[in-house]
Amino acid sequence: FKKFSNNTMKKICILGSTGTIGENTLQVIASCPEKFKVFALTANKNIEKLQRQVLEWKPRYAVLSCADSAKILSDNLREYSNIKTEVLGGPESLEFVAAHDETDYVMAAIVGGAGLLSSMSAAKHGKRILLANKESLVMSGELFMNEIKNSGSQLLPIDSEHNAIFQCLPFDYASSKSSSRASVKKLILTASGGPFLKTPTEKLFDISVEQACNHPNWIMGQKISIDSATMMNKGLEIIEACHLYNMPLEKVEIVVHPQSIIHSMVEFIDGSVMAQLGTPDMKIPIAYGLSWPDRICSGAGFLDFYQLGSLSFERPDFNRFKCLMYAKEAFKQGGVYPAVLNASNEIAVQSFIENKVRFTHIPEIIDHALECCAYEYDSTIDSILRADFECRKYLTEQIGEKKWSI
Ligand code: NDP
Repeated sequence: FKKFSNNTMKKICILGSTGTIGENTLQVIASCPEKFKVFALTANKNIEKLQRQVLEWKPRYAVLSCADSAKILSDNLREYSNIKTEVLGGPESLEFVAAHDETDYVMAAIVGGAGLLSSMSAAKHGKRILLANKESLVMSGELFMNEIKNSGSQLLPIDSEHNAIFQCLPFDYASSKSSSRASVKKLILTASGGPFLKTPTEKLFDISVEQACNHPNWIMGQKISIDSATMMNKGLEIIEACHLYNMPLEKVEIVVHPQSIIHSMVEFIDGSVMAQLGTPDMKIPIAYGLSWPDRICSGAGFLDFYQLGSLSFERPDFNRFKCLMYAKEAFKQGGVYPAVLNASNEIAVQSFIENKVRFTHIPEIIDHALECCAYEYDSTIDSILRADFECRKYLTEQIGEKKWSI
């Protein structure tokens, strides 16, 4: 792993640099200019924010997935003679920068299935991948993990729960020869429960997008905030944990911990439990992903135990948060089921954001899609992409025809 040695300056490609995780990553990098250099920045179509980032960071490449937006950015940058950044457009350019010979680390922080091919491209090309884009692992877990193994990539989880588990597991856990694997009894993912943990069920029908995005502890993008409110986020994370740590479903447990101070835990066969704690700030897992196995200052605040008060824990309510159940079921079924779970969730959440369906329709839509769009099939990348495409098309039509009306 000489190529990942922390002694040399690392060139970083940030996929999704205009998002919450992307911006947090730039903040961490800003405090360590001697260790990291921004090589590529990418967005979908937020020209204004990407332009600001390009002017500040002067990367070699800037990519906009939307080709028309890329043309505008390229024209805008002509007036800055000191900027040599090459602007690329189109989704295939995301794969190009993720696989580029000069890229050392890839922060995979595109939201949703749109991040699959670029994350996969980094996995195939032996990069250190800082994986925030959980959806790509949910859709293609086995394939993704195989690519990592075959190419010698390093996979560093950025989701705070999986990063916490990574920090708690024995150092040699990932090695196939390791006996420490047998010492782990279970993984315990903590869940805040989101903004509606105690909201009476009958009130959920009228929930607005603003209320659903108002997470009690974390500042996040719109989609993951709504996923936290339905607890689909935790469902996706169960699948993510099974793939990352090669764990059977029954050894991954959810504990609701509303304060989000313990980010997750590992229970060992001798009864010991290791936990990772910290302020709810994504700069902590991002900094660890960048610096592992060393540590750097993240810029996050520190815990004040005198101020914390008490930490509480409870069982998740699978009847109230049906998405948790659907995620487990999809993982058990395997094949393209997790891809359908993910696609239907993305369509349902987007339709809720666009006021086409209600908050309570989200689990109904996912349930319907798992019934109608998933089929038993191998999980090649082509099958996964086809299932994803067909599910989105079918649900978009159904929602357009007002199968779920508001
Ligand atoms: P945001 O919505 O804040 O940002 C999403 C980023 O993805 C933006 O840069 C956006 O570009 C880009 N993007 C969106 N669609 C496309 C597309 N079709 N092609 C290319 N780029 C696209 O999301 P977050 O930063 O909150 O989340 C990113 C990922 O990290 C998600 O998978 C999420 O689950 C995960 N994560 C996030 C956490 C958080 O605290 N935010 C915590 C743990 C995981 P543009 O600005 O142009 O739209």
